[in-house]
Amino acid sequence: MSSCLFCRIASAEIPAKVIYQDAAVLAFEDVNPQAPLHCLIIPRRHIASLNDLTPEDTGLVGTMQYRAAMLAKERGYGERGYRTIFNCQADAGQTVFHIHLHLLAGRSLGWPPG
Ligand code: AMP
Ligand code: ZN
Repeated sequence: MSSCLFCRIASAEIPAKVIYQDAAVLAFEDVNPQAPLHCLIIPRRHIASLNDLTPEDTGLVGTMQYRAAMLAKERGYGERGYRTIFNCQADAGQTVFHIHLHLLAGRSLGWPPG
């Protein structure tokens, strides 16, 4: 989808600090980090929000979550802990309408979230 920011990052049309990529997903550093490690894991294929998932996407979402866990562990946060978050629509604060899994680590994260 040519007008989508994260599709343009996935196709390397817009630069990002990519830390992992394969045929299905891409992970890159968030431009406005909220923790020492804050990256976003996205599918290469455009999916606007969690509301648009189909039964065929369940494996893809699992792949995204698995990659977040591997990245956190590789960076030494496995024992200490980390958080993964999908924001969906306005009340959750979704601003980019291409699904993305936030991975945050490296500081104590409050609960409940604001
Ligand atoms: P959300 O509010 O869940 O939709 O999250 C969108 C995230 O994308 C925010 O944390 C932004 O800081 C991040 N973001 C926006 N534009 C870029 C960009 N060009 N490169 C990296 N991260 C971005
Ligand atoms: Zn997109």
